[in-house]
Amino acid sequence: MLRSFKDKKIIIASHNSGKVQEFKELFEPYDLEIIPASKLNLAEPIENGDTFVENAEIKAVEAATAASLPALSDDSGLVVPAIGGKPGIHSARWAGPNKNFTLAMETVWNRLANKNPSAYFVCALSICWPQEGAQTLKTISFKGRVDGRLVWPPRGANGFGYDPIFMPEGYDITFGEFGDTEKQAISHRTRAFEKFSAACLVI
Ligand code: IMP
Repeated sequence: MLRSFKDKKIIIASHNSGKVQEFKELFEPYDLEIIPASKLNLAEPIENGDTFVENAEIKAVEAATAASLPALSDDSGLVVPAIGGKPGIHSARWAGPNKNFTLAMETVWNRLANKNPSAYFVCALSICWPQEGAQTLKTISFKGRVDGRLVWPPRGANGFGYDPIFMPEGYDITFGEFGDTEKQAISHRTRAFEKFSAACLVI
């Protein structure tokens, strides 16, 4: 059974400011206080799952347990089938410790060489309610995806991560050139959020 947000609080279990900003906008219609994990000094857990969903669940469970509040986490990334689905769950890692996405985009493009540039972004969202009284810990996950292709050179200064080389299907501009609202309308994160909100939130 689904549980409610009785204190009207939800933790966003992410230390990525780009993602936290997108979630703030997605939560605007709802009467919930959004608390980024960084504000509670929650540690960044080791993401050692094999799938986006496993990693999202690790982050949600850890934050919900540490803060005794419901926590929503996102694990997302860029999947390029022509290079074996990479960078996939390692999308953040490809940018190195300095989070250098110019380097990460170059690495993806060089590996792709002349192969099929089709790519997609995936987002797994997990919500975890902590153990409370007789209620046990509960986690539910939702997935969203947006298809497109990679282009070079990178274009646009908006968004974050791999946005400047990702052109969604049906458009001739990259996510880096999209405005925030336009990206939100079709993004993998929004599509996962729509499933989550339909199941768990009320306006
Ligand atoms: P995570 O924090 O482990 O989920 O890392 C996800 C990584 O995937 C991010 O650091 C970005 O590199 C990439 N990524 C996920 N969503 C997006 C997006 O909407 N645009 C661009 N890159 C993204």
